Amino acid sequence: MANMSLKKNEMPSQDPMVRNRNFQEVALGYTEEQAIDEATRCLNCKHHPCVAGCPVEIDIPDFIMKTAEGKFEEAYQIICQDSSLPAVCGRVCPQESQCEAVCVRGIKGEPVGIGRLERFVADWHIANAQDEPVRCPENGRKVAIIGSGPAGLTCAGSLARMGYAVTVFEALHTAGGVLVYGIPEFRLPKDIVQKEIDALIELGVEVRTNMVIGRSITVDELLNEHGYEAVFIGSGAGLPMFMKIPGENLKGVYSANEYLTRVNLMKAYLPESATPIKKSKKVAVVGGGNVAMDAARCAKRLGAEEVYIIYRRSEEELPAREEEVHHAMEEGIIFKLLNNPVRILGDDKLNVTGIECLEMALGEPDESGRRRPVPVEGSEWTLDLDTVIMAIGTSPNPLIKATTEGLDTEKWGGIIAEDPSGQTSRAHVYAGGDAVTGAATVILAMGAGKCAARAIDEELSGMKSCAEKNNINI
Ligand code: FAD
Ligand code: SF4
Ligand code: SF4
Repeated sequence: MANMSLKKNEMPSQDPMVRNRNFQEVALGYTEEQAIDEATRCLNCKHHPCVAGCPVEIDIPDFIMKTAEGKFEEAYQIICQDSSLPAVCGRVCPQESQCEAVCVRGIKGEPVGIGRLERFVADWHIANAQDEPVRCPENGRKVAIIGSGPAGLTCAGSLARMGYAVTVFEALHTAGGVLVYGIPEFRLPKDIVQKEIDALIELGVEVRTNMVIGRSITVDELLNEHGYEAVFIGSGAGLPMFMKIPGENLKGVYSANEYLTRVNLMKAYLPESATPIKKSKKVAVVGGGNVAMDAARCAKRLGAEEVYIIYRRSEEELPAREEEVHHAMEEGIIFKLLNNPVRILGDDKLNVTGIECLEMALGEPDESGRRRPVPVEGSEWTLDLDTVIMAIGTSPNPLIKATTEGLDTEKWGGIIAEDPSGQTSRAHVYAGGDAVTGAATVILAMGAGKCAARAIDEELSGMKSCAEKNNINI
């Protein structure tokens, strides 16, 4: 008998006024009892719309049914048929606009907590099960992966399971991409990401850090001189954009990327860390996406007394996940919506002292379908500050395009690649994730990595893949 409660089981979490001073995980995860209770809210719908709402089409009703029966390992194995990072996706996927948005239980009441259940099952597996890597015999063929974010890691894992010798080249000193340098510890603990990377290494994947492709070695050299038969580019979109307003060069203005990298990857929040970060009192973060929420919540945790989000549209248009906005508000972040900075103010020592903004109103919808913000004349106001963090978007770094023969890109820098194979204009070179789409989501990047792995295998083996023959999930 289904549990007909209209509300999801609450996820236990740290108290907002305690957690806004520490970097430990905010949401604490379901207990076994809560997970089973939540799972029994699922109606096991015949047409299961939730599955179509998931970009990698996890068999959601099946894994939830196993969870309801207390068969957590079986539930985990069902998820793993389609996703290689369930503990990550259960935490950071925008479920509310994907699988949960179309859950039948959401018509009257709250949808089934699919993401929360996925997280529970993945955490249960990490705590209780021992993985034995399953892979095809080595086929002696080498594939290079550029970038160790979710796109690169997924592609690497899929190819390794099919018997390829895979090398991941990562520019930074630690693998994981945005999962380690962008998304903060309090949303995605780094030991979870590291476990996923360790599992790949156990599968035989070689991870070479501090290797900037285009500088240390080029794509052409990988193909022509180092014996790689195919290359997958999963280099993300890590180049920050600025507003091009006066004052952006002042001391105390950061890109969100730099700020978050210092905090997350370089652990600037630990007293023993060698990486400095400004001890700010009043901070404004410009932007309304997940990156802006993460930067604001980090600034608060680093001790800032007042932290503002300045966003030019209204709450309805905020692109960040609902949960992140809600958590940020609970933690005391102040939202200045319908406002746009026009100038950052500084003193004669070139330190930030404030920001000047204009109020905005919403006009007609623009090409994105969202109502265009238009300035309200004469509405200038200023806010005293010592730090400004710009979180208005990123684009792919042009280095790989500039150093690879025959690789076509869009004007804005995205690599042009066929959907779903990821084949680029350059033979034997595939691409996927943010490097192709621009800043998007973890699950879409993973989906692209997986599709490209299939396409690479098809190209290189020219026959039914080893995984298919041996019934191995990639
Ligand atoms: P990335 O994760 O960016 O990885 C690319 C990797 O390539 C990096 O490690 C980079 O160092 C490396 N690289 C780049 N150039 C080179 C080179 N020349 N040579 C070698 N290596 C190179 N998505 C969600 O779904 N939910 C969220 O809650 C969420 N929050 C986010 C918060 C922040 C702060 C940010 C920045 C993004 C967030 N995203 C979120 C988006 C999501 O993280 C990305 O869409 C996803 O990580 C893209 O994966 P990727 O593998 O394409 O690229
Ligand atoms: Fe939902 Fe994301 Fe899990 Fe798919 S991967 S079921 S969209 S939480
Ligand atoms: Fe269960 Fe919702 Fe999917 Fe129906 S739509 S099977 S209730 S998760």
